[in-house]
Formats: sequence, C-alpha cells, structure tokens
Amino acid sequence: MDKKYETICRKAVMHGPLEALFCCIGDPVVGNPTQLMMEATFQSMMYPARYLTCTVSKDKLSSAVEGIKALGFTGANVTAPHKVAVREYLDGLTESARLSGAVNCIIRDEAGRYIGDNTDGKGFHTSIDNIKPVTGMRVLVLGAGGAARAIITELALHGAVHITIANRSGARAQSIIDDIGPHVKTTLERIDFDGSLPIGAEYDLVVQATSVGLFDPEGGFDLTWEPKASGTRIAADVVFNPIDTKFLKDAAKAGATIVDGLGMLVYQGAIAVEQWTKGDADCDMMRKALEEAFTI
Ligand code: NDP
Repeated sequence: MDKKYETICRKAVMHGPLEALFCCIGDPVVGNPTQLMMEATFQSMMYPARYLTCTVSKDKLSSAVEGIKALGFTGANVTAPHKVAVREYLDGLTESARLSGAVNCIIRDEAGRYIGDNTDGKGFHTSIDNIKPVTGMRVLVLGAGGAARAIITELALHGAVHITIANRSGARAQSIIDDIGPHVKTTLERIDFDGSLPIGAEYDLVVQATSVGLFDPEGGFDLTWEPKASGTRIAADVVFNPIDTKFLKDAAKAGATIVDGLGMLVYQGAIAVEQWTKGDADCDMMRKALEEAFTI
C-alpha cells in the first residue's frame, strides 16, 4: 500500500472520521475482482476506505443487509444471485433499479437511507457514449438475462430509437418488453435466436449480452455481419474474461468499432464510487487493477 495512503488510513482510525466501509455480497464471490478495482481507485483518490468481499448465502441476505445498515456502511455492491432479491430489504430504488428489476449497487444517501441502484446498464451506456451518443441508435441485443435487461433499460432511457432482443428463451425477452416497454419511447421487439443470425446493416450497435464466451476464448455464435454501407457500427461484449472474445474478433473483421466488457465493468464501478464518495474515480487505475487481477 502507498505510504501516504496508509498514513491517511491510520490517522482516520486514530482521529476520525473513520474509514468508509464497503463490501461486495454474492454467492459465489471468489474470483470476483470488484474489491481489487475499488481498492485501486480509493488509494488513487486518497479516500480512506475498507472494501471486503463477502460470501452471503440466500438465507442470510436479509441479515447481511441489516448488518450493512447497522454498521453504517457507505455502500455495497451486489452480485449473483442476490441482484433481484435484495430489493425488498432496501429503503428505496433508483429509476434504473426499478425499471431493470435488479440492484448491483447500494448507496447510503444523506438521510442515511440505503438506496438500490443499477449501475451495470449505466456503465455500459458510458462505455458506448464515450464513442458516440446512443440517442437515435438502432440496437440489436443478444441475450435477455440480468445484464441484457440493465443494458436495455439504460439504452432506452438514453433515447435509443429501437431495440431488437434476440434470446434463446423467447419468454425471457418478452418479459423485458412487457416490463420496460410501457415506460420508454423506444420501440422494443424480440426475434427468435438459435445461435445463428444475420446482423442486419440497420443496426448501429450490436451487444453480445449473453454469458457465452465467458472463460471460453473460442465460444461464440454463428453471426453473419451484413456489410454496412454508411456510418459506423459498434459491437460491444459484456464478457470481460477473456477481454478479446470471439464475438469481438469477428466483429472487428467485419469493420465494427469494438467495445470490450472491461469498459462496462470499470464504468459501472466508477459510477458507484462517484455516488459513494462524491469524488472522481480513477478509471485507468481500475482497469489496470482488473487486467492484473486476471493474470493472478
Ligand atoms: P444471466 O444468467 O441472467 O443470463 C444469461 C444469458 O445468456 C441469457 O440470455 C441466456 O439465454 C444466455 N445464454 C446462456 N447460455 C447460452 C447459450 N448456450 N446459447 C444462447 N444463449 C445463452 O446472466 P447475466 O445476464 O447476469 O450475465 C451475462 C454475462 O454478462 C455474464 O458473462 C456476466 O459475467 C456478464 N456481465 C458483465 C458485466 C460487466 O460489467 N462487463 C456486468 C454483469 C454481467 P436464456 O435466457 O435463453 O437462458
């Protein structure tokens, strides 16, 4: 640990205010690198804090959230399988959490209430917005799980004009349309998906939001990228390990601008940090910490 940061943390213990407390709760959480990227930015920001990674089983979720509240944690991250169930133990939800139906981040507000937010979709949106605003985009999303739901919510809230959802289970895609559709101006449709699909030239953004390819560099779908006559096409993957997925490699060959899953992971964390600390997260340090974590 950086000497100057260590001194700041020690002074916090001896003279206060005490270090801010954070945790990531889920089951399993071994292998989840969130703590490492959070520690990297806290140190870079010289923000005295402790971040723990905690295994919390489903039957202990309620008491874990009570513990977070009782101990005065400043915030927490929530991962599988608790992203949906945790909502009922919180004091409120943001619009993103309400619409997406899932919470990945808990924030203690100024009144001491613990509010559930969903920064997954916001992080994804930032990773695209850095290249081009999503307003007016036509989007194809492969997948209809938790990540896809958060992404679709945020793209719709930011003015994507049309989103097509291609998922193996049609019912899951339909439930996103039923839940989100009535609250946004974006037109949402679903199409059948059996793993093989032509990617039409009408799409400005194609999102690989399934878990296919995770820990599997050769894993992917049989996609035919139809040539795009004008304008750029962005291809984004939510899978972050490996960083260079088959989907992204194929998309790059087809001339698309590539956005890897680490962007979403870093930015969803950075948005959480900025809400917790009111300071600027160090995204470069966070990305570096993740890249290092994947080599451990
Ligand atoms: P879910 O389990 O909720 O959803 C999984 C999705 O993948 C579903 O749409 C599922 O289809 C689809 N799928 C799984 N296997 C296949 C297959 N063999 N063929 C076709 N479709 C398949 O997972 P999440 O949405 O929570 O996570 C998805 C991925 O996103 C994971 O790899 C996760 O690590 C990553 N992620 C990345 C984040 C980041 O910051 N970069 C943040 C959050 C998640 P069906 O509904 O038909 O089962």
